[in-house]
Amino acid sequence: MGYDAALFTESDDSSIVRTALKEGRIVLTRDSGVVRRRVATTGRLQVLLLRSDSVWKQLSQVVTNFSLNPTHRSFSLCLECNHLLEGRSKEEVVGLVPPYVLSTQWEFSRCPSCGRIYWKGTHWDAMRSRLQELEVV
Ligand SMILES: [Zn+2]
Repeated sequence: MGYDAALFTESDDSSIVRTALKEGRIVLTRDSGVVRRRVATTGRLQVLLLRSDSVWKQLSQVVTNFSLNPTHRSFSLCLECNHLLEGRSKEEVVGLVPPYVLSTQWEFSRCPSCGRIYWKGTHWDAMRSRLQELEVV
């Protein structure tokens, strides 16, 4: 959706809390233990307890809770490393994308950090439709 996000792979809550505070992040979690921690109850760390196991229901809860616009900035960040994508012309991606993609797509973007190339293929259309559904919830 174009919002800076990170996946915490640490297994202990203390590491998650420390990293979130250091990076100024809001913790989205299914773990009620994090919500009960003093750092959360005092408001020093913002934590949202996700109520559902369904990813789309979780996303809907996040969108509603933080009044996010799910499509306004969508597909503007690299899915791999969170960097802001930069527009690229068809000529600039020759040899970097499959020939079929080059012959059927006109808009490309590239991550300046990892070099990954993005285009608006069928996956993009499907994701966009799903995100638009979140707008009316
Ligand atoms: Zn990247």
